[in-house]
Amino acid sequence: MKDKRIKIYKVGPFRIPDYIPGIFSAFLLIVGFPFVVQSQQTAEITTQTVGEGRHVLFGRGGNILASIGDQGVLIVDSQFPDMVPKYQSTIKSLGGREIDFTVNTHWHYDHADGNELLGDAGSWIIAHSHSRDMMTRHNTINTVVNPIVEQAPYSQAGLPVATYEEKMELFFNGEQIDLLHAGPAHTQGDTAVFFRDSNIVHMGDVFNNAGYPFIDSENGGEIEGMIAFCETILGEINADTIVVPGHGEVATYYDLLEYITMLTEIRGKIKALIEQGASLQEVIAANPTVNWDAKKGDPLRLIDRAYMSLTR
Ligand SMILES: [Zn+2]
Repeated sequence: MKDKRIKIYKVGPFRIPDYIPGIFSAFLLIVGFPFVVQSQQTAEITTQTVGEGRHVLFGRGGNILASIGDQGVLIVDSQFPDMVPKYQSTIKSLGGREIDFTVNTHWHYDHADGNELLGDAGSWIIAHSHSRDMMTRHNTINTVVNPIVEQAPYSQAGLPVATYEEKMELFFNGEQIDLLHAGPAHTQGDTAVFFRDSNIVHMGDVFNNAGYPFIDSENGGEIEGMIAFCETILGEINADTIVVPGHGEVATYYDLLEYITMLTEIRGKIKALIEQGASLQEVIAANPTVNWDAKKGDPLRLIDRAYMSLTR
């Protein structure tokens, strides 16, 4: 029996999730942290059933996809330590027991900081080899519009016990589950998790449906790769596939297609400006995201990180 004590988790005031649009974050910084801390303490799990025994769990941090069935429970992504007991309880209310497997879409804190508690409770963790490597190190994440996040290395309990390079196949709860990696994108260790029979794919932060995506360019992310990764997954799925984004509402094949169209257009404009010798400030001033801002919000973070990935 593993130790199930709940560790005290430091709720760092600077850990604002990267999907909160910049302007809103700036507002939070000005009005003060109590509101942020409050929202962390009060975040609850809500659920959306997307198949038989398949549920999306929304809380604080990346969306969780859960498979609950005869063989047990598998989840994709683990959010934050304070959320772990909350979604453990939700999974029990949905007919599950302990979490047997945890797949991380990537190593970022808001998708993986729950790992240590899950590992302590006996869950086996799986991720791309590069993500596991990053989880053993200290990492700095610069989201441009929010304060820089310092992510500490995980203890052994929080580290994946199995990794892969390009593809891993799992067979669990009556279906094949493919873990797919298609090169550097949001990070260098992204995984799309495709539940083939349920026809549900979890894209991690390669597909953000809550504003423009973040490209972790300082840790090897690339806008070119993000587009290529999405195109690869689009080729694996079909028009009926349920597409779970890293953040935001559950989406469709057509939402992913539009996202690719958007990123391709923006990438093309930024690239053309760079080829004309434009500085980052000149690219921002040229407003390359104008067609999408009404829908997606503040583009500064995307433009900044895309510029970095296209100029190195
Ligand atoms: Zn991320």
